[in-house]
Amino acid sequence: MGATFDAAMDQVAAAAVALRAGQLVAFPTETVYGLGADATNDRAVAAIFAAKDRPRFNPLIAHVASLEAAFALGVFADDARALARAFWPGPLTLVVPRAADCPVSLLASAGLPSLAIRVPAHPLALALLKAVDRPVAAPSANPSGRISPTTAEHVRQGLGDRVAVILDGGATTVGLESTVVSFMGAKATLLRPGGLPREEIEDRLGIRLGMNEDAEDHPHSPGQLPSHYAPQAPLRLNADVPHDGETYIGFGRFGGGAFTLSASGDLAEAAANLFRLLHLADAAGRPIAVAPVPQFGLGEAINDRLARAAAPRGPDHDPRANR
Ligand code: AMP
Ligand code: MG
Repeated sequence: MGATFDAAMDQVAAAAVALRAGQLVAFPTETVYGLGADATNDRAVAAIFAAKDRPRFNPLIAHVASLEAAFALGVFADDARALARAFWPGPLTLVVPRAADCPVSLLASAGLPSLAIRVPAHPLALALLKAVDRPVAAPSANPSGRISPTTAEHVRQGLGDRVAVILDGGATTVGLESTVVSFMGAKATLLRPGGLPREEIEDRLGIRLGMNEDAEDHPHSPGQLPSHYAPQAPLRLNADVPHDGETYIGFGRFGGGAFTLSASGDLAEAAANLFRLLHLADAAGRPIAVAPVPQFGLGEAINDRLARAAAPRGPDHDPRANR
């Protein structure tokens, strides 16, 4: 264990040097693997967009190692602070006004007056962020519009030639991107369902979160584009049984084959397996059908990702155009 730990820490140190030199580093978090760059370096941040082929108007999340570091980057109202204290480190991203002296590249927040910030709950991510000692801008480490990576191997396949270092922390535990809550308006708003169930946030705040109404007109959230997280194969939702020739992804009492999100109907297990099974099913090269998943707790984010993976991708909805 000691030798393994030391080797991992050597890797972290090398990754921190690469980040400080303006290079890209892929690293595990509890949600999905991130494609990181020094958030204070415009050119490094630009390299993320280039590597992912992502449209510039999509802002990135700044990752930091501690609440103190987060509070220095943005203006946190009491409610935002309460969520930070309750759920960080964890799968929650808070969008707040940039602090006056915020050192994060404007490119990382796509020129918006706001900044998305998160403290991830993963030992390698935290070790890396501490070693870099700067905010790290990181979207998911996949080509834009494609399935998010939950293993280092997914990153290698999608972006292997674009990154200086890939830190391997095994399969991610949450498996869904972070829940994004904005404090830019009068009312806290859910911009993207994710790895922290909405109900837990609402319980903590004692209010219902607002919903982002105009996501399609103002796609400042890649996770809100109609077609996203897309496998190559077509995807059919709410399928009780597979049709001939389909690869079936089961859940609970539906299915039970090799590709099952959770045989016991556990939503956390299903979230952790979602992107891995989409990758595997996609590799089988046949159309994919997915069992119904209930719409509460983590089911809200799972169904959101599935709906986007299944969205039409004609000329007007080509996922490669929706980067
Ligand atoms: P990803 O990096 O793929 O996990 O996506 C980043 C997510 O963070 C997007 O879906 C947005 O919802 C959100 N986000 C990042 N920065 C901002 C911002 N300044 N304002 C609003 N949303 C943001
Ligand atoms: Mg992403």
